[in-house]
Amino acid sequence: MSAKKSLETDLLHTPYAKADAYNALSMPVYHSAAYEFDTAEQMELAFTGKAADHTYSRITNPTVQYFEDRVRTITGAFNVTALNSGMAAITNAILTVAKAGSNIVTSRHLFGNTYSFFASTLADFGVETRFCDLTNLNAVAESTDEKTCAVFLEIITNPQMEVADLKGLSAICKTKNVPLIADTTIVPFCAFQAKNFGVDIEIVSSTKYISGGATSLGGLILDYATFDWSKSDNKLSGLAKSFGNAAFTVKLRKEIHRNMGAYMTPHAAYMQTLGLETLELRYLKASQTCKELAQRVASLPGVEATNYTGLTGNEYAALSKSQFGEYPGAMFTFNLASREAAFSFLNKLKLVKRATNLFDNKTLAIHPASTIFGTFAPEDRVRMNVSDKTIRISVGLENADDLFQDFTQALSAQQ
Ligand SMILES: *Cc1c(COP(=O)(O)O)cnc(C)c1O
Repeated sequence: MSAKKSLETDLLHTPYAKADAYNALSMPVYHSAAYEFDTAEQMELAFTGKAADHTYSRITNPTVQYFEDRVRTITGAFNVTALNSGMAAITNAILTVAKAGSNIVTSRHLFGNTYSFFASTLADFGVETRFCDLTNLNAVAESTDEKTCAVFLEIITNPQMEVADLKGLSAICKTKNVPLIADTTIVPFCAFQAKNFGVDIEIVSSTKYISGGATSLGGLILDYATFDWSKSDNKLSGLAKSFGNAAFTVKLRKEIHRNMGAYMTPHAAYMQTLGLETLELRYLKASQTCKELAQRVASLPGVEATNYTGLTGNEYAALSKSQFGEYPGAMFTFNLASREAAFSFLNKLKLVKRATNLFDNKTLAIHPASTIFGTFAPEDRVRMNVSDKTIRISVGLENADDLFQDFTQALSAQQ
């Protein structure tokens, strides 16, 4: 295909790398572990990276590669790697840049498993994590030194709903020669262009919006090749001599991803490719409904505080608007009087589902403190700012009035 089209067209029309034998209109699901070669010579070329043929599906697979290509087309990333889950994307990306003795600068306000990966798993391998307040740029600058291998953040933290100034962070990262790695799961790439805000490596849990209705687990690493790895004494500076800004992708695709063995499965890639086709439409509807509900729920009896960064008066409203536009994600939180009130509300919901996960087509409600953060020590929850009073809502595609009606009855029934 020739000229670049608009995003919604590109979402649908990325051509296959090779013509399908049957002219299938959907990319076939190539459920094959390995691929046959005509000659030993061709095999050698493929295995030594001199030809682009598929060899083994832990490394590449045509269906997964097609999904990666579509994401590359619509984001302009230099390379996209699809993994088996969002956590696989985070661990593969971090293991590509971190080594014993290096440190990562991040916030305590993180997805639970990401926090545990940094605080426990990486610590066991001699990688230090420096938790600081990422909304305080001076604190970030002070925590960052020549051993820092990444500044890592979530663009809107969950459930705290905190927004860091990405351009400010990027400026610090540039002066310190540290890559900025962002988990952008909460605002998908149809609504937020991470590269324009100085993000070097973008991570997405494609389990969420992209899967198209919680069909499958998946994760993406997008490398924009914007970071100059040769400038500092980092793990990739040697590779950068031969590969320049592609050093991250080379290390990831030739070593880390092969050794970790967490590539996306062809079936998941098929479903997530379908999910991509409707991503923009679904995101628009869910995020608009979310903003409306966050506004309306604030007026219900018993609701102490509603937290959505798209609301006027929210402490991050201006920054959020400049980074994510009118509708910053399809998730909001609110506080009730107590943990008991939160449980009672959840138990009385009739339409909204009690479930974890984000950005299913169905609206989901959860009490984060007793579930996602339930195994953390109470003092850790306090430090992570996860309150016992908070309910988290992931808004789906239902009618807004029907959802509001369910919230209203679940709250009024407990008065
Ligand atoms: C869900 C989630 C993850 C983890 O993704 P999985 O696909 O469940 O492994 C990471 N970060 C954020 C912000 C998430 O919401």
